[in-house]
Amino acid sequence: MNQIETETERAMFAALVASSEDAIVSKTLQSIITSWNVAAEHMFGYTAEEAIGQSIRMIIPPELQQEEDEILEKLRQGIQIQHYETVRQRKDGTRIYVSLSISPIKDREGNIIGAAKIARDIGERKKLEEELHESQERTQSALKAGSVTLYQQDRDLRYTWIFNPLPVYSSEEIVGKTDADFVEPEEAAYLTTIKRQVIETGESYHEVVKATGIAGARYFDLFIEPWRLRHGQVVGVTGTSRDVTEQVELEQRKDNFISIASHELRTPITVLRGFTQILIRKLSQQGVEQSLGMLQKMDAQISRLVKLIDELLDASKIQAGRLEYEAEPIDLDPFVHETVDVLQASSPTHILRISGTTDAIILGDKDRLGQVLINLITNAIKYSPQAKSVDILLSTSEKAALIRIRDYGIGIAPSHQQFIFDRFYRAHDSSKKTFRGLGMGLYIAHEIVKRHGGDLTVESEEGKGTTFTLSLPLNKELSQG
Ligand code: ADP
Repeated sequence: MNQIETETERAMFAALVASSEDAIVSKTLQSIITSWNVAAEHMFGYTAEEAIGQSIRMIIPPELQQEEDEILEKLRQGIQIQHYETVRQRKDGTRIYVSLSISPIKDREGNIIGAAKIARDIGERKKLEEELHESQERTQSALKAGSVTLYQQDRDLRYTWIFNPLPVYSSEEIVGKTDADFVEPEEAAYLTTIKRQVIETGESYHEVVKATGIAGARYFDLFIEPWRLRHGQVVGVTGTSRDVTEQVELEQRKDNFISIASHELRTPITVLRGFTQILIRKLSQQGVEQSLGMLQKMDAQISRLVKLIDELLDASKIQAGRLEYEAEPIDLDPFVHETVDVLQASSPTHILRISGTTDAIILGDKDRLGQVLINLITNAIKYSPQAKSVDILLSTSEKAALIRIRDYGIGIAPSHQQFIFDRFYRAHDSSKKTFRGLGMGLYIAHEIVKRHGGDLTVESEEGKGTTFTLSLPLNKELSQG
């Protein structure tokens, strides 16, 4: 190599060192600093003038001084140090995270005479790592507190990751396996079906399922979401599962209680009603007007009680899947007219107007469908105290007979509309005397209509009124279930 080439190379090397963002420093085997680039000045706060000739130990925190001994030992043996993460101290005493790479410098004969050090500031990365760690800690505590199991499965539904698994298996035992390896075959097949569906449709899934594990039958609240990469590609599922056995059992006991309580109430009330009606007949024969009036009021109150208890009974039967249905042909138009006539006789405040026809004969349960109509029309009257009429509109669509019940009352706010068919849901303030009820009528009506293969929907504008549309399929068998 000639003189000029060596000179050029040296100049290039010096330029590289000067422009590097990493601190580049060299030192002797006695730890004395021999060079100090611009980045080192910025990183450690000492100028080259201040640093050169000093010991490198000045940037090593007191408690880490033994690191220099270890580094020197390695250097003497000619060992390179790569990406060693540690802490160094700046001139102003603050600490920084650095990643060090250190190589021995040799003379012409190959003797090690010192070391070149590259230090990279990894403060940002450390900060991110710590933030990530903290965030993971927080998530894990929350999952633990809520007894939630969180997992991911790839497209073949092999577990790739699981947190807070059931006590029986560790996460190492689960990762790499599928549901079929832990769960009863039938339940595994079911889980596989719904998870595949989530992957295929990209839509999330929620259900409470019963699973038989070694601890017996337990209920789990499952949420299964598509696991998406940042650009949207679905690569598997992310799921959570929470043991809700206690809640479900409590709910079942409560339903059971409602069912027994309403049964027990029904018997004495029926007897009371029977005697009241006998008395009404007797007193009216005797012409005792005043007592008769009181008895008739008693009878009306008893009828209200019977209605409430029947609603409770029906709701608990539906909940337990025990509501029974008859299927008989119903000539819909006369059926609606008869039901409305009966209601009109006991509703002096509103005119019930029927218009249109369906000309349909449908298959259904007369008593249950009558109950639906009565419920919708009494609601229409109850929730339109200022109005004078309720319209009942009959028509057909291609596949269904339609009965619309339209009132001109208080209406239902949009935020409530989606919930009014839920059990015990009430959209209006129950403290107002006018609107008393248990919030079960529409739940029962909706269930009955669904069992007929039909639908019950609502349209409403607050202050203007509400229209319920009852649609019943033409020529359809009563659905089983
Ligand atoms: P409730 O016994 O409380 O009347 P329902 O199940 O029959 O129970 O109705 C549920 C809720 O829906 C009611 O509490 C009421 O807030 C609202 N609702 C039902 N029908 C009407 C209607 N025609 N107009 C306005 N609100 C209604």
